[in-house]
Amino acid sequence: MDSYTNCNTYTKTIKRIVQRWNNTTLYYLVLLHILYACGYQNQDKNINNTETLMPATIRSYEKTLPPPLPPQRTTTITQAPTETKQPTPIQTYTSTPTPTVTPTRTPVVPKAQPEQLPLPRHDVTSETHLFFGRPMQDGNNYPVSNYRYGMTWSGLLAPHLGVDLANDEGSPVAAIGNGTVTYAGNDNTELFGFRNEFYGNLIVLSLDQKWNGREIYALYAHLSAIDVENGEKILAGDIIGKVGQSGAALAPHLHLEIRIDDPRNYMTTRNPELWYSPLPGTGVVAGRILDKNGLFIPGHVVRITCADNGIRWVQTYWNQWTPPDDDLSENFVFSDIPEMKCTVESEFDGYTISQSAYIKPQDIVFVVLQHSSEQVR
Ligand SMILES: [Zn+2]
Repeated sequence: MDSYTNCNTYTKTIKRIVQRWNNTTLYYLVLLHILYACGYQNQDKNINNTETLMPATIRSYEKTLPPPLPPQRTTTITQAPTETKQPTPIQTYTSTPTPTVTPTRTPVVPKAQPEQLPLPRHDVTSETHLFFGRPMQDGNNYPVSNYRYGMTWSGLLAPHLGVDLANDEGSPVAAIGNGTVTYAGNDNTELFGFRNEFYGNLIVLSLDQKWNGREIYALYAHLSAIDVENGEKILAGDIIGKVGQSGAALAPHLHLEIRIDDPRNYMTTRNPELWYSPLPGTGVVAGRILDKNGLFIPGHVVRITCADNGIRWVQTYWNQWTPPDDDLSENFVFSDIPEMKCTVESEFDGYTISQSAYIKPQDIVFVVLQHSSEQVR
């Protein structure tokens, strides 16, 4: 039975149970677990069948349930994301949602005018990123497509701080670079995220590779086994633990994060797809989707149509809780695209704007699309 069938069977069973409950908090907590259990389709394997990218169960939930994002997510941020000032922490997944609230999508960077935010130089986009290897040596290295970095599963979940790699329980997990273990244990009492008992068994590596003199950390979560100890020196490719579903996950997967400067501050994350290497023969497209005023458009679908007739898609980062890269100031990234010509498209209000991009192996191509519609938000 594959993970998709597992997901549906599992979801139906849980749904029957929770429908008898009146406790909204428990209901949403279980819903969160269902969502973690689902959607583990590899987008590239389903490239011509976008219907399979989101399980029918999840689509029906989307229609019947209000988004549980709390109202304070609508807070307008006035700082650029590179500021070190800490925003107010968002509510945890377990908080009771306000059923009638539809979250307002707030631009990430209010001052994203092109003259204030120039295109990154090519040597910046590629040579100072893509440093690391991939964590799964034999297993699946493709991120879950519905919940890439900065995405919210169409408004159902808090913006994602990392990528989820669906793999069987017990699959070996490798270090993505040389480094030192700075934490190996669970988060029952130590805080790494919104709350305790969220990441489960986790490992944090301090990577030897620095970035502009700054520390880079890799965080591995939901492990079933930890094979390293605090302070241990690790080489790239060393097996450090095993895939599991500890913490806030019911389906086995590896949640991988990149953090800059401070490994215990979940507001220091960056998009892992800019830091680990694309798979052999593939590259990365990243960019910005802007409205007519030059503001970032959050939660917006970006389609990447390529010469292989595949339609890839990603949604722009929801808001400031998932910081963009310091150099790129992007609001979307899609990695592991084979070398070929693609078109990046953004559609709103019946108008589609697009730009072609040639994907090169081990490279980042950067695209900026700015809408002219008054009603883009
Ligand atoms: Zn995750």
